[in-house]
Order: sequence, then structure tokens, then C-alpha cells
Amino acid sequence: MGASQDIVAKFGGTSVATADQLRKVKAIIDADPRRRFVVVSAPGKAHAKDTKVTDLLYLAHQLARQGQALGQVWQTIETRFLSITAELGLNLDLKPALDEARRRIEGGASADYAASRGEAIHGRVAAALLDAEYVDAAEVVFFDRAGRLDPRSYDAIAARLSGPGRYVIPGFYGQSAAGEVKTFSRGGSDVTGSVVARALAGRVAVYENWTDVSGFLMTDPRVVAEAKAINEITYGELRELSYMGANVLHEEAVFPVREKRIPINIRNTNRPADAGTMIVASRDPGHQVVVGIAGTKGFTVIQIEKALMNGEVGFGRRVLDAFERLGISYEHTPTGIDTMSVVVSDKQLVDKDGTSRLEQLLEDLQSAVHPDNVKASPGMALVATVGQGMNHAIGTAARLFTALAKARVNVRMIDQGSSEQNIIVGVEEADLATAIKAIYAEFA
Ligand code: ASP
Repeated sequence: MGASQDIVAKFGGTSVATADQLRKVKAIIDADPRRRFVVVSAPGKAHAKDTKVTDLLYLAHQLARQGQALGQVWQTIETRFLSITAELGLNLDLKPALDEARRRIEGGASADYAASRGEAIHGRVAAALLDAEYVDAAEVVFFDRAGRLDPRSYDAIAARLSGPGRYVIPGFYGQSAAGEVKTFSRGGSDVTGSVVARALAGRVAVYENWTDVSGFLMTDPRVVAEAKAINEITYGELRELSYMGANVLHEEAVFPVREKRIPINIRNTNRPADAGTMIVASRDPGHQVVVGIAGTKGFTVIQIEKALMNGEVGFGRRVLDAFERLGISYEHTPTGIDTMSVVVSDKQLVDKDGTSRLEQLLEDLQSAVHPDNVKASPGMALVATVGQGMNHAIGTAARLFTALAKARVNVRMIDQGSSEQNIIVGVEEADLATAIKAIYAEFA
């Protein structure tokens, strides 16, 4: 087997939540000798009412900070790990690692340190189970002073994982510029997997991301029960969909592998025979113009009207300045000859303490551009219809709007974007499900 055929396999929290799940992981790894680089999450939920080990660790840190005993919380964490190792019959004594973590958390270690112990300790379990070498992520994954991934990590990982055997690398954390343990944001083991794959570019054929679903569906199954699976999607298309809230993979996990065009394969640990979704650099759209449809409620349109706006130099900048001064980010800015609209998420229109910033914004816009009229229309939902090259496929927009018209959905806003793979329409929130169903029926 050629060297560029190796596989990075990352297993998420539910995939490693119990001894039974870990047996499935072992079967998957043993089934393909190319799966040499294994990244693991901390034990996630074993059932719907369960608590993730990571959440228990944050709680333990919280208790320690308030000077309270870790008591039951620590007991639960410890039992979780020890019962898994016992059930798997592993020759591994986790007690020293658990005791040290507890001592340091009680001694004032950071929240990041506390949270990272889920992966750090579970990595040892996985390494013992898979007969693999354990590599502490803090030795090879580095953050820079700004808290971003330090590219030095790539060389460090490549050098450390250069042997012929199997390796286990705990996900979610690394080392800060100050030499302390630091985590990615929640769900960050996906990012670790991507960073490891990127570091091994040239040796790695695919980054497998094993989770509890068989990949992405074309749309939300709560809206369209029979939604088809997506077999293949590009990084760019996924970006457009994730922006609208399709949530299987950490948003940042795409970037490290994308530059090296290493595909990500979303797989289901509970259904390993399913092919899952392949995330690739480019695909042949074939007859499938639309790859996915995502919708989200909770947007407000700020409409600004002013006669001869198009001739006024700096108008757009002054409008957007008003948003910037209040720290409000925006989604879209559809414009007409004498109108400019700014679409914002409702979340952006309230302060941290819950007070509305809308009135202030409208006042600021008034004094910034002296419009003929400015108003806010809440209650809008956005629907993104995504597919590479769809803006070039003749008739795509016509099909989309005809489908919406037939379903009697009133389109309040259209934004075709500049990515050429996305048409976004704004509809009344009450029409969101109808709109998604209509578009799905037309293109699926
Ligand atoms: N265990 C961490 C979390 O719950 C990271 C991960 O699982 O990816 O967020």
C-alpha cells in the first residue's frame, strides 16, 4: 500500500462514549490498516439524558474556583473512565492520571486545562485499546499569541508521527504561546483531526470524521422527513450551508485540509458500511445542481430609502459605519437604485444584557445619511439554496422562484451572492418550512 494512502480517523464524543462504542471503534480501525492516525474526543453522551465528560470537567473547574469540593462530580467522571477500562479489560491504570488532573484542578488550574483532561485521559484508553502510541496533543499542537493555530504545529506533528505504527492523538487541545494547555472552541476535536491530516499531507488520502450520523442530509429532516443524504459536497458548498446552521462538523475544521485538498469523509460509527458524505475540493455537479438547502429564522431587514442615493458618494460606507459603531455585524446588503437594505440577525440587535439596540441604530442611521425613510422589518427567515455552478445553470433561478410562487410563498429579499453557488431568499418566518419543502421538491 502506497504511503499516500494513510487515513486520519477522528472519533467524536458519542462514538467513544461507552465500552460498546469503543469496540466499534476498534473494529473500524482494525478493518483497514491505513487507519493509522486516530484522534479521539472525550466520552460524550451515552444516552439522551447523559452528560458529556467535557461538561462535567467544566463543572469541576467551576466548583474548584468557588472553593467547593469536587465530590460527586469528580466521582462521576472517574467512574466513567474506570468502568470503560474495566469493561474493555484493558491493562491500563488511569488512577494516577485522574488523581493528577483532580489535584491540579483543585489547585487552581485553568478551565482549558480542566476541559482538556477528557480527551487527554480518553486518548490513553484508546491507545491501549488500539495498541497504538499515545501522543500528548500539548507536545505537537501549538497556538500563537493571538490564540490561533501556530503553523509550527504541522512540522511538529509530521516529525512526531513519522513512524510506521499506529498513533492516538487526543483532540480539542494543544499548547498556548505561554506554554499552558489551551483548547479550541467546543467541538474542537474536529479541528485537531483536520490539523493532523494537513500536517501529514502527501501521506494521507482522506480525513475520516466518525460521528453518529451517516453524513449530511440535503435539508433538515424535521422539515422534509425523506431528505436524501448528500454523497459529495465541496468545501465551499459546505461553508455556505454551515453558515445557515447545518451542524455536523466544526466550522473551522474545513480550513486546514482545504489548502491541501485532502477530502473529509463524514462516517457513522454505528453504521460503518454507509459511505457517508465526502467533502471534496471540487465535484462534477452532473444533473444534481442543488446540493443542499438550509434555512434559519430570526432576521430583521433595515430598509433605507433616499432619492438619488446612487449618486451620493460614500452613502454605503456611512450606512455600514453606523452598524460598525454599534458593533453590529450584518448578513446581506441588497440594494436598489434609491434603496439600500441591510439584513441582520436578531441576535445582533440586542446587547449582552438583553436591551434592544434597534432604536439607537435607526437614530444613528438617520443622522449618518439623512434618509427619506428608514424602517426595520422583523420576522424574516433566510433560505440558502446551495450548489456549485448553479448560478450558471440556465433556468435555476426560474425554477426556484416558480417553485416558491406555486407554494404561495412571498419572497421578501433575493441575494444571489458573489460565490456563484448560492441563492439566498428572505421569506416570512411563517413561510420557512413551506419554502424549504417547495425548493426541495423542485431540485432533490
Ligand atoms: N470534548 C470537546 C467538547 O465536548 C471537544 C470535542 O468533542 O470535539 O466540546
